[in-house]
Amino acid sequence: MRTFSGKRLLVATHNRGKLEEIAELLKPYGIACVSAAEMGLPEPAETEDTFAGNARIKAHAAAKATGLPALADDSGIEVDGLGGAPGVYTADWAVTQTGRDFVQAMTRTWSELEAANAPYPRTARFRATMVLAWPDGHDEVFAGKVEGQVVWPMRGMQGHGYDPMFQPDGYDITFAEMDSAEKNRISHRADAFGKLVACFEGAKA
Ligand code: IMP
Repeated sequence: MRTFSGKRLLVATHNRGKLEEIAELLKPYGIACVSAAEMGLPEPAETEDTFAGNARIKAHAAAKATGLPALADDSGIEVDGLGGAPGVYTADWAVTQTGRDFVQAMTRTWSELEAANAPYPRTARFRATMVLAWPDGHDEVFAGKVEGQVVWPMRGMQGHGYDPMFQPDGYDITFAEMDSAEKNRISHRADAFGKLVACFEGAKA
């Protein structure tokens, strides 16, 4: 595995929430983040049909444009009763003419499960893939997940996206009812990040 020994890492996202979450995870390694948005980089089209494929597009585009190693993440929810949908289209299900509406996206998810008469528990998982890419075209890919079920009605006010309808295994509360520190300990992104840190640990060794 190639290691990263720099003190600043380009994070290929225009999403402030994701940047803050990743910055928090990198802090203990003495690594500061700079975002693709701060560098004025365009957002590439996510044309692949896997999380890894889309994370690779974002990481390589940023690394190539800047000549710096770049980290990208791609994530979403897979619902078994919907054959794994919305999957890589998780964010797309929230798109409206006036911006993103996740209540609409969650309502659609539940309506489709009802229409399909899907059995209970309505199992689902969040997946996140993190890719660290170098300007020479090398990359390292780290996949994470958290298993659970989707529930209805939505519950909780914390978090973002589909959190109010996702109840992780071993809990009777949704991600939106959970303390953010607890969510960040068990989440799909934390799982992927736990594998990525080997790149930083290797550099320290
Ligand atoms: P991305 O920016 O293409 O990775 O979009 C991922 C989408 O998946 C986001 O817009 C969210 O709707 C959803 N998502 C990813 N992670 C989470 C999470 O931790 N909670 C709730 N929704 C999430």
